Amino acid sequence: MAKRTDVLIVGTGAAGLFCALQFSKQTDVLMITKEDADKSDSYLAQGGMCMLRDEEDYEKYFEDTMRAGHYENNKASVEVMIRSSRDIAQELIDYGVDFNRNGGELAFTREGGHSRPRILFHEDATGREITGTLLENVRERENIAILEHATMLDIITDGKKCCGIVVQGADGELCTVQAKYTVFACGGLGGLFQHSTNFRHITGDAIAIAKCHNIELEHVDYIQIHPTTLYSERPGRRFLISESVRGEGAVLLNKKKERFCDELLPRDIVTAEIKKQMEIDNMPYVWLSMEKIPKEEIESHFPNILKQCLEEGYDPTKECIPVVPAQHYFMGGIKVNLFSRTSMEHLYAVGETACNGVHGKNRLASNSLLESMVFAKRAASEIMKGISETGFIRIDNLVSMEQYLDVEGLKAKYKKIVLEEIERERKGHEGTSDIEGKC
Ligand SMILES: Cc1cc2nc3c(=O)[nH]c(=O)nc-3n(C[C@H](O)[C@H](O)[C@H](O)COP(=O)(O)OP(=O)(O)OC[C@H]3O[C@@H](n4cnc5c(N)ncnc54)[C@H](O)[C@@H]3O)c2cc1C
Repeated sequence: MAKRTDVLIVGTGAAGLFCALQFSKQTDVLMITKEDADKSDSYLAQGGMCMLRDEEDYEKYFEDTMRAGHYENNKASVEVMIRSSRDIAQELIDYGVDFNRNGGELAFTREGGHSRPRILFHEDATGREITGTLLENVRERENIAILEHATMLDIITDGKKCCGIVVQGADGELCTVQAKYTVFACGGLGGLFQHSTNFRHITGDAIAIAKCHNIELEHVDYIQIHPTTLYSERPGRRFLISESVRGEGAVLLNKKKERFCDELLPRDIVTAEIKKQMEIDNMPYVWLSMEKIPKEEIESHFPNILKQCLEEGYDPTKECIPVVPAQHYFMGGIKVNLFSRTSMEHLYAVGETACNGVHGKNRLASNSLLESMVFAKRAASEIMKGISETGFIRIDNLVSMEQYLDVEGLKAKYKKIVLEEIERERKGHEGTSDIEGKC
């Protein structure tokens, strides 16, 4: 059955939800997601969300972000993100997000690449706290509907403008959704990699669809490997050991239980050091020791990490845990401007799917939740300006549903397109890529 909405948002992670909440109550918003609404990478975020603490920190925060990104970042995007961070944090608090506090004051933690603690957190489950609260707020809004277990298969265009999408619903039926504006908030592409911290269903679909429609992409080979995930022989998603564990004093050790690097360097550098050490030791992991962190701190700040380690048979309050790098984050994506506009009219992209250049070649820890929400808000503000002047056009002549009947074939095609695009870009950056360790 065909549907029609003012704004269509594909994805219910932090970027999509925050975007949806910006629209006036007179604007019809439809959100769709491949899985249950709470199955997004945003839920998995552990460490936290950066915030500019005071004016004095501006230069250092800017420099930390640029240094982590190998100075390939878009400076204007970095400035917008940092300058908007206090407002975003306040908006989240107003929605009901409960950040940890010391007394009445917000508490801050530190992660690799940060020259001072500036990360807001909620225990080690900041993503669940932020995204869960946003989802509760969205569910209360009468103008926003969520369609779960609905997969976007393609966009519908008149050649220049995006007019909606083709969706496969939970019952397997295909339908069209017509929209005045479409926002991709589809996350990254970790599901394409064998070892990744991401949900398996996050597979870069929007990137493949963009490529098929000649929508501009950027730095598709800029893929971040997280240095520390819990080593496991079980199949499935890798469990992240947040960088803030190292920020609070955990150290990396080799086979002889000796330190071999500075644990608080940016992620790509620590990853390279770990890989080198694994080769020297001829081991599939290195050790992480939390010995220096008081037991009470581990229990209060990292309860979920503690629980997961215990489930895997390690007690980090008493012994080292084995850790290994895994695919984690996508810095590249669909090229967008400072208002998240893509190269196709009426199509926006926000969050991990988009590339506004804020992360450069390597993301600074805890900048992504913030970035997702800052630029989702800007997308919504621009869409709101145009919405009353935009009408619906006929779309039945723009799409033929027969081409989508082989959904599995289409998914395989999309996967191939994205992997080939990564490889092509990698070759273009030959000699400068730091993601050689393919996961
Ligand atoms: C383990 C882990 C820990 C992290 N820790 C932190 C942290 O501490 N701080 C930080 O800032 N960042 C962290 N990140 C990164 C951060 O969580 C994500 O980058 C960010 O939240 C991305 O949000 P998003 O809304 O763009 O995408 P996601 O939250 O990944 O949501 C993507 C959505 O798109 C939907 N979707 C995808 N394709 C389709 C399709 N074809 N049809 C329909 N729906 C589709 C998915 O179902 C999902 O709802 C972490 C990530 C992981 C994996």
